[in-house]
Amino acid sequence: MHVTAIIAAGGRGARFGGARPKQLLRLGGRPILERSVEAFLRHPRITDLIVAVPADVAAEPPEYLRTAVKPLTVVEGGARRQDSVARAFACLSAATDIVVVHDAARPLVTDAVIARTLDAAAEDGAAIAALPATDTVKRGDERRLIVGTVPRGEIYLAQTPQAFRTAVLREALARGDQEADATDEAALVERTGRPVRLVDGDPRNVKITTADDLDLAERLLGEGVGGPAVSLLRIGTGYDLHRLVEGRLLILGGVVIPFEKGLAGHSDADAVCHAVTDAILGAVAAGDIGRHFPDTDPRWKDADSLALLAHAVDMVSAAGYGVVNVDVVVIAERPKLAPHVDSMRANLARVLGITPAQVGIKGKTNEGVGSVGAGESIAVHAVALLNGVGGHFSRTVE
Ligand code: MG
Repeated sequence: MHVTAIIAAGGRGARFGGARPKQLLRLGGRPILERSVEAFLRHPRITDLIVAVPADVAAEPPEYLRTAVKPLTVVEGGARRQDSVARAFACLSAATDIVVVHDAARPLVTDAVIARTLDAAAEDGAAIAALPATDTVKRGDERRLIVGTVPRGEIYLAQTPQAFRTAVLREALARGDQEADATDEAALVERTGRPVRLVDGDPRNVKITTADDLDLAERLLGEGVGGPAVSLLRIGTGYDLHRLVEGRLLILGGVVIPFEKGLAGHSDADAVCHAVTDAILGAVAAGDIGRHFPDTDPRWKDADSLALLAHAVDMVSAAGYGVVNVDVVVIAERPKLAPHVDSMRANLARVLGITPAQVGIKGKTNEGVGSVGAGESIAVHAVALLNGVGGHFSRTVE
């Protein structure tokens, strides 16, 4: 299903005071707009994005709108919210099945709220995130005297995202073109008489309208809500096995280990480096060592596998990732690896750009079982944790 996210950031934020549009203010060190855009970029069900921004921003978009991991179109917003959304809608791909509209001023939207809204829109045609009212709701007159109490069970406070089948939103926007201001897209759909489903929003999905809201959002961010810390972590696993043969050096983790046999292979056959390289490439879904350093390529004959590992680190680093830590299990019946483990850790740490304290290496035997147990081969397992660096969502690696 092709899902397009429209991020509405066209307004000037008059209520906030100051000349700067509120969606360009910083929250936790990064623009509110960047955080809202990122929430949809990282969501697995979003295919592409259209971001409606003020004219001056559209004329010179910031880098995070120019280097996104998914197709992203920047359009100039209109006078009213519905005009901005209509301009974005005009750029829609013909393939779009569902359009999800989100306020840039709600940067802490969660993956779960986005998913719930999309599910309901796919089913019913239109759905919005909303919260049931918990306070008693009064209706008042111009003198601030109560006219009546509204039954609370009927009251929902609308949030975004709001999602629609493409045809449903097209019809609603056509009406919005001629009619008065609507504060959300659902209101336009309601006027067409179509049903709009209410799904559970999230109280932490706050709209940043005032300086107090910004303070609240900073506190929520400090608690991990909407923050990038978890979403930018990537884990990868790697495995390698080489046969032990006579007449070769035994090299593991870049250390030449005195032994009567060595590992067979096209390169130096350093299975520790190979498993760690695969773990790092795997963390960013960039394939494996065989794809980047094929053993049919004479460049890699007897190659120093620490250099291959360094190359993989350069690749993920160019994509915006750094290594957090690696952990390795070397399974070998003989020789004893313990005396060499610290040298191996130091070599890997140097190439990975981390400290030896972030590199775990454990030697195991295979209890005499199988080819490893018979001393015919050495096997290595590795995991690597990577983190998106520079406070920036990361690019794909190819
Ligand atoms: Mg290998």
